[in-house]
Amino acid sequence: MERTLSIIKPEAVARGLIGDILSRFEHAGLKVVAAKLTRLDKQRAESFYDVHRERPFFNSLTDYMSTGPIFVSVLEGDGAIARNREIMGATDPAKAAPGTIRKDWGTNVEENAAHGSDAPETAAAEIAFFFTADEIQSSGS
Ligand code: UDP
Ligand code: MG
Repeated sequence: MERTLSIIKPEAVARGLIGDILSRFEHAGLKVVAAKLTRLDKQRAESFYDVHRERPFFNSLTDYMSTGPIFVSVLEGDGAIARNREIMGATDPAKAAPGTIRKDWGTNVEENAAHGSDAPETAAAEIAFFFTADEIQSSGS
């Protein structure tokens, strides 16, 4: 069993897409084992995306991610990290495969509806960024 962090980004929350997006994960066999609506201020957004600090889109991305509430969850399942990224689709919605979250609901390469961890180490760090151990349920319970 693997865990990954998912974020439904501000524009998708504002458009009322939390239920539709979660439903994609659940239908794909990923279990929601932790979840909350929260908000990043600019400084916490910068900290979350620290790996992208030198990228040209860093300032705009962290501004965007602090514009409104986000829905963060921990998804659990076999191969959850890769499966989540498959369901999300390519970073740029214009290049994402049909039937993916970003294809169906992403606005542009920045406002692309969802975030998903990209490797076991980043998943662990990103889960710990938002959740304490006792906020995460084991999927059997
Ligand atoms: N992003 C952007 N412009 C780009 C590439 C990425 O605004 O040219 C944003 C986008 O919101 C993306 C996030 O930065 O989801 C993190 O980029 P990454 O390359 O890690 O893509 P992801 O893992 O989210 O597919
Ligand atoms: Mg990434």
